Amino acid sequence: LLDTALATAWLRAAAAAVEAHREELTALDTAIGDGDHGANLSRGFTAVTTALGAAPGRPGGAPGSSPGTVLKAAGTTLLSTVGGASGPLYGSTLRAIGAALPGPAADTGQVADALAAGLAAVQALGGAVPGDKTIVDAYAPAVDAFRAAAGRGLPAACRAAAEAAERGAADTAPLQARKGRASYLGPRSVGHRDPGATSTALLLRALADCAA
Ligand code: ADP
Ligand code: MG
Ligand code: MG
Repeated sequence: LLDTALATAWLRAAAAAVEAHREELTALDTAIGDGDHGANLSRGFTAVTTALGAAPGRPGGAPGSSPGTVLKAAGTTLLSTVGGASGPLYGSTLRAIGAALPGPAADTGQVADALAAGLAAVQALGGAVPGDKTIVDAYAPAVDAFRAAAGRGLPAACRAAAEAAERGAADTAPLQARKGRASYLGPRSVGHRDPGATSTALLLRALADCAA
């Protein structure tokens, strides 16, 4: 079940993964963007973990919170602290996931629906479809893989989603960007992995590690 403790652990693990891969994300965004993706996510997830430390939802903290409220709050923090494209996109995604999670603990099918709601939010905001070399190229196959594996339980579904996102991110390398800053490069965006698809895979791997 995805409960408050797992949602909180996921956000902390996501923040740690962003720090561990900050230079890699910066290098990817230097190749086809403006080189700030690592710094953008670091600023955002640092603020998220700071807010978690003060939140009633932390393990051992006050009762009454839910995974939905924790994830919605994290999304709001990303929206207000990250200036780049990824802030509004990830912020809206986390808010949509949180809004779709019912009650104190979501089952695997409910998590599948929530992840799908997050994908719908990022696509509604950014207008990207698979193949545009964006977050969607990691996130869309992850939602499909999660749903396909949902019958095997939450840990297996999260693992399948992470693997699909990692494949999707790797497969962005030969694509030409059609959305975001990288699209300004036209054919010169070919040959580099997309930074946002790469960070999406990190975030979903963090969830799989926590759910295991
Ligand atoms: P900025 O481009 O404003 O500097 P970041 O560097 O933090 O912001 O994020 C760049 C990433 O955002 C890209 O690698 C891409 O994955 C993602 N992105 C940009 N535009 C879109 C969009 N319209 N839909 C989905 N993802 C997008
Ligand atoms: Mg950038
Ligand atoms: Mg920027």
